[in-house]
Amino acid sequence: MKILVLNCGSSSLKYQLIEMDGEKVLAKGLVERIGIEGSRIKHTKTGMDAVTREVPFPNHSAAIKYVLDILVDPELGVLKNLDELYATGHRIVHGGEKFTKSVLVTPEVVKGIEEVIPLAPLHNPANLQGLKAVMDVLPGKPNVVVFDTAFHQTMPPKAFIYGTPYDCYEKDRVRRYGFHGTSHGYVAHRAAEILGKDIKDLKIITCHLGNGSSITAVDGGKSVDTSMGYGTAEGVLMGTRSGNIDPSVMIYLMERYGDAQKVSDIVHKQAGLLGVSGISSDLRDVEEAAANGNERAKIAQDILITGVKKYIGSFAAEMGGVDVVVFTAGIGENGIGFRKEVCEQMEFMGIKIDPEKNNCRGKEVIFSTPDSKVTVMVVPTDEEMAIARDTKRCAEEAK
Ligand code: ADP
Repeated sequence: MKILVLNCGSSSLKYQLIEMDGEKVLAKGLVERIGIEGSRIKHTKTGMDAVTREVPFPNHSAAIKYVLDILVDPELGVLKNLDELYATGHRIVHGGEKFTKSVLVTPEVVKGIEEVIPLAPLHNPANLQGLKAVMDVLPGKPNVVVFDTAFHQTMPPKAFIYGTPYDCYEKDRVRRYGFHGTSHGYVAHRAAEILGKDIKDLKIITCHLGNGSSITAVDGGKSVDTSMGYGTAEGVLMGTRSGNIDPSVMIYLMERYGDAQKVSDIVHKQAGLLGVSGISSDLRDVEEAAANGNERAKIAQDILITGVKKYIGSFAAEMGGVDVVVFTAGIGENGIGFRKEVCEQMEFMGIKIDPEKNNCRGKEVIFSTPDSKVTVMVVPTDEEMAIARDTKRCAEEAK
């Protein structure tokens, strides 16, 4: 059974074609600069070198048609014809309170995603463009939508209600939604599987640390709290996003600049590792500069380490303990020095790591010592596979 997974941004489209028998990626690719001059596609058939072509893509439909053509191409393709395709899974950033799990697409579902656009004005319209283009080009084939927010819909009110007037929640839908849910859910389940334990018996803290980062408390398999909130700037310091700041700062900046877009750019695009260090949004560059004595780079690095420690500590307190801490995404999977710093500073919680085992990148590993009170591990995330699995399940259920 072959499933196409799509992740559409406003001017980009990532895809993977997955064979579900054995869960193998047959082909993947990226289309960039859709609707902008210089658009191109980079396609990789597993086992072959990547092929890059400059092709004018005026819109997402044109890009999706091209992707489908390349997937049936005799040389670069992996399908005999499009009938071989079982279903398409779409990543949708925001499902609001409406969508608590992945669902098969119906006209009501499309309407539901449209209703949530005010909560994700940049992302949901782009995700919808991809969905509508596939519905148009492949009529009759099932489509499934998988939401970044859905995994967090199990949070109790004490975790998702802000201390704002209750009206803000009821009328304006201001609350903590949380993001990266597909990743948090995937790595939490995978961690339990690796440990040979029932996830229902585990208190897990999952640290998804990439360009965007969030940390989640997963109790008994359910998200009970998470660091990102109404939007994607809350929580720990990120590549270019501020993480937690005092709301008064936003008010002050608004008064000073009188321009919401400018203030939004400050906290989303000019802040974080980049903004504090003045060097880069990439932790590798910041670590190198800090090691060479750059003071601001050292401060940025320390803010991130401290932020991650604060969340691990507070989520352990919230859950009444923690059995497993999981690191994932770019920094979590590859940041050997970063993980060492965070964990060695948390020995008071019974976290003990083996530096040799920690000395690895991008693979599943338990790097705590056997006598550590908390199991600490790296589990590389695979959001596409998680989307493909949900797509298969929802499409089969609908048959
Ligand atoms: P995204 O959130 O865009 O999917 P990724 O999960 O790919 O991002 O994470 C990208 C980040 O991972 C980079 O910006 C970089 O800071 C970090 N990273 C990658 N490799 C390393 C490494 N070896 N050491 C520290 N950080 C790393």
